[in-house]
This record gives sequence, structure tokens and C-alpha cells, in this order.
Amino acid sequence: MRFGTKVIHAGLAPDPATGAVMTPIYQTSTYHQKTPGEHKGFQYSRSGNPTRKALEDNLAALENGTYGMCFGSGVAAIDAVIKMFKPGDEIISTDDLYGGSYRIFTKIFEPFGIKFKFVAMSDLANIEAAVTANTKLIWIETPTNPMMNIIDIEAVSKIAKEHNILLAVDNTFATPYLQTPLDLGADIVMHSATKYLGGHSDVVMGALICKDEKIAEQLYFIQNSSGAICGPQDSFLVLRGIKTLHLRMQRHCENGKVIAHYLKNHPKVDQVYWPGFEEHPNHAVAKKQMKDFGGMISFTIKGNRKEDAFKLMSSLKVFTLAESLGGVESLTCHPVTMTHAAIPKKEREKSGVIDSLIRLSVGVEDVNDLTDDLEAALASI
Ligand SMILES: *Cc1c(COP(=O)(O)O)cnc(C)c1O
Repeated sequence: MRFGTKVIHAGLAPDPATGAVMTPIYQTSTYHQKTPGEHKGFQYSRSGNPTRKALEDNLAALENGTYGMCFGSGVAAIDAVIKMFKPGDEIISTDDLYGGSYRIFTKIFEPFGIKFKFVAMSDLANIEAAVTANTKLIWIETPTNPMMNIIDIEAVSKIAKEHNILLAVDNTFATPYLQTPLDLGADIVMHSATKYLGGHSDVVMGALICKDEKIAEQLYFIQNSSGAICGPQDSFLVLRGIKTLHLRMQRHCENGKVIAHYLKNHPKVDQVYWPGFEEHPNHAVAKKQMKDFGGMISFTIKGNRKEDAFKLMSSLKVFTLAESLGGVESLTCHPVTMTHAAIPKKEREKSGVIDSLIRLSVGVEDVNDLTDDLEAALASI
């Protein structure tokens, strides 16, 4: 099956009990057993629930994986991955990382004795230099948040394999519509399904997908033991959202392209970060590993004044000033004060997260209303 068919059909079948075409919301914690141990595959909803299972199978198919696992949030999915490791183990990650990932790595897992190294991954030599005998995992995000750097998944996976290290890719920004990291050598794909997969800003959820049975066993053991699962209602909503993932992503990309070029030509705008520009330092890699360039754009304002960024963002009428991304509606956020407040100033400025940086999640509205909105807001500063 091709992607646009998989989003609608993969892992799904009419409900065996009633013939319902849409996967029912199995709002149950437990399941009848005929004799002890004799059941229909479900015993208790922490361990498995048919609505969640349908979503997990669907996601596994979309990422060209074999096993899917869904969690109560993206960070709960990250938490499950890091729990595969032990005190003394080392993990290498990118220096331009989602703030919540940085926080759970450094504030939750470092005190338990797992070491993290954050390196600039645009230069692969930095990864090689950080590898030791204790390195167990490389954790990457591409495109990165909020600087839209692109990391060459295939190249990183080669390094990981040479040193017998696992590679996990946070595929939240790209979605499997744009790139499938397992095909490029990654071992684990992670999603904040809160974003594009859900797509309607009405659910918080996380997901992991992998191909290898042993990794799946470990992750499933952690999912069931630590218990950070998502509920059946939320599973239904994400299943519903995914049915239009390909349509939404296509429009996000089209609108993103228009907005990126609009901003680039505006006299008050300084830098525009979007991997579709030919002069983007990793454009060639983006072109190689992604189907299109997505709807996430960051930009800075000339003079780099926080007041200008604030004024612009509060003047916007179609773009909503809010955290999160990937919904049908356009959102804007100020990374320094919102998503990246947990990252020390020196760290974030090194990677370009400066005071006037504004991040846009370009939605699927009529793009002319979006450029009109930006035009009026830019005129106000
Ligand atoms: C939002 C996000 C997360 C965390 O997911 P939650 O669902 O908010 O817990 C992780 N990675 C990226 C890239 C994100 O955008």
C-alpha cells in the first residue's frame, strides 16, 4: 500500500463484533476470560487496548516499521526509550533539541547516572568525537526545533552501526509523510503525536515505532511496567486525525513554501530558517531524505529586539500565539520565553535561539490570509 492509502487503512479492519467501519472506542479497563488465561488477546488496558492497538499498528505501517507503541505524551515515549539504559551508559544528542527532551535528559535521567552529550550534528565528526565505549544511543531530531537544521539520518546511522550504538529519531516535525527514518537505518522512531499526527490540537500523545523484535520487547516491557499509556478516546482521535495526514501535510508544505519566501523578501526580517531554501546549509540532505520541506519556519527580526518580536506576535490575528505545532491552525511561538525557557541562555544562543527569533507552525488555512496577517503585523513594528 502507498502512503495515502495506508493512513486510511493500515492496521485497521471493521470491528469483528459489530462490523463498525470506524475503530470503536473500547472504553474498558479489563476483558472477560472464559477460563483463567483464555482470552481474546486483551487482558488489561495498560497492557493492551483494541483502540490503542489499531493506532499502534497503523503508525507502525506508516513508518515502515513492525511494532508501534503509544504513550500518554511525547515525553512519556522519550522516557520509555531512555529507560532502556543503565547508570554509566552514555547518550549523544543534538545541541539544538526540543526543550522538553533536553529537560528530561538532564533533569530526570542524569541524576540517575545516565550521561548525555550534546553536540552540533551538522558536522558528523562531532558525533564520532563524542563516542566512547559506553555510548549506547544517539538521539536526533530532524528538522530540529526551532532552528530547522537538518541532520543526515543515513550518515548518522552508519556511525551508530559502526560502533554498535542504537539510533533514535524524533520524527515529530517531519512525520512519516516527509521522511521514514527506519528506512534510513534508524532503530527507533519517536513522535509527539500531539503535533502533526493528531493534527487538530486536541490530544497530547506520544509514540514509538521500531522494526527489531528485541527492541520492541524491551520497549513494550517498559510501556507496560512504567504504564505511561494513552487512553482509548485519545487513540481514536489520533486515528481519525491520521486519516488526513497526507492531505494536511501537502498543504502545510505548500503554505510553508509561500510564507518562507514571503518572509525572506521582507525588509524587516533578518534570517529565515527553512530547509527548502537552496542556501540552507543542509538543503541537499533535506532534499535527499525528505519528500518536501514542511510547514515549520523560524525567523528573526532585524535589530534582534525582543520587544519587536512580542509586538509582532501579539499583532497577529490569524496566527495564534501558543505553544505546540502541527495543527490545522497556524500557530506562532517565541522559543526563548516559551519552548526553550529550560535551556540556559548561553546554550541556546550558541545554536541561534536569540531574542527576536519567532517560530511559525504554518497551518492549512488560505495562504493569502496568512501573508496578509504577517504583512500587517510586520507593519506594526
Ligand atoms: C512536542 C514535542 C515533544 C514532546 O511531546 P509532548 O507530546 O508535548 O510530550 C518532543 N519532541 C518534539 C520535536 C516536539 O515538538
